[in-house]
Amino acid sequence: MKDKKRDQPTGCQFIDVPFEFRHTCWFCGEPYYESYSFMAIPNYEQQKLPIMVPCCQECFSFCKSIKASGLDLLRDKVKEKLHRKYEKHLQIGANWTKEELEDCEFEGKALEGFRESAWKMFEIAKERVNYTGWPLTIDGLPMVGISSSFHIEFNGITYTGLSQAVEQLAKAYNIPQAYLEDVVEVVGRDRLSYAIRFAKTTYGYSSAEREASIGSLKALLAEERALSQPEITQVKGVDAELSDIQELILYRTMISPIAIRWCLKQGIVTLAQLAEQEEAFFEYFMKDSELVAFTYFNGMQVYLEKREQDTLWAENEDPNRGLFAKLASE
Ligand SMILES: [Zn+2]
Repeated sequence: MKDKKRDQPTGCQFIDVPFEFRHTCWFCGEPYYESYSFMAIPNYEQQKLPIMVPCCQECFSFCKSIKASGLDLLRDKVKEKLHRKYEKHLQIGANWTKEELEDCEFEGKALEGFRESAWKMFEIAKERVNYTGWPLTIDGLPMVGISSSFHIEFNGITYTGLSQAVEQLAKAYNIPQAYLEDVVEVVGRDRLSYAIRFAKTTYGYSSAEREASIGSLKALLAEERALSQPEITQVKGVDAELSDIQELILYRTMISPIAIRWCLKQGIVTLAQLAEQEEAFFEYFMKDSELVAFTYFNGMQVYLEKREQDTLWAENEDPNRGLFAKLASE
C-alpha cells in the first residue's frame, strides 16, 4: 500500500485494489485503462479529495459525462449506460435460449455469423452489467453509504432499480413501457416475470383496453389472494358428553366414543372432513399412543363411510344419529 502511494499524485485518494483485481475496471470487470477521478456533485458529504476509481476505457468515458453525489450512484449510472449501449446484446437472452440459437438455421453469411457470436455477445454484456466490483475501501477503511439495495434481478440480469428494469424489459419484450409500469405496480416488484407474461398476453394497447386489462388483473390477484388463504370451514361442532355417545362395532371394527366425541366437537361428519383433519386427529390422539390414534382413526373411517353409504341406516339406526342430527342443524 505504501509503495503504491509513493508514485501517486497527491491531492487525491485511491480506492484499495486487491491484488487479483489490479488490472480490472471496478464498474464492469473489463481490463483496466485509467482511473477516473471522482468528485461528488452535489457534494452532500463534503468530500474533500477526489477518489480515484479504476476503469476500463468505456466506463472511463461514461464516467466523464456523469454527475453523481456518491460512488454508488455513479456506478448505477455507468451500469445504465452499459445497459443502453448493449441493449440489443442483452435482449438476445430475452428472445432466445442458447439451445434455440444453436439449433436454428439461419441462412446467409451474415445471419450465420450472428448465430455464432450472438450468445457470446449476450454473455459478455450480461457479465459486465452484473459485475459487482469489489468492496470499496480506502486505506483499509470501508467507505460508508455504498448501497445496492435498489438493485433488482430479472432473468439473470441485474438492473439498477425497478424503473430501469421496467424500461429495459419493456423494450426487450416489446411491451409499451407505460403499460408494463402499470402492470408491475399492480403485481409488485417481486413478480416481474408474471407482470411481463401478463402484459405480453393482454393484447390491445388502446387506453380503454389497457384499463380493462388492469381491472381484470386486479380481480385476478384478489381471487388468487382469497384462494391462498386457507378456507375456513367454520362448521360448528357439538360438545357431547361421553356418556351420551354409544360405542359401536361395524364390520368387526370397534368405534370408540372418545374418537366420535372428538369428531363431533370438530364438526366432522364426512370422510372428506375427517381426511382434512387427519393431522389434527393424530396430533391429538398420539398423546395416548400411535396404536390408539391409528385404531381410533381407522374406526372413524369405517363409521363415517358407513354413514355416507347407508343413509337409511344413518338416519334410522345409528345409535348416535341424534348427535349427528344435532350437528347438521347447528
Ligand atoms: Zn468498465
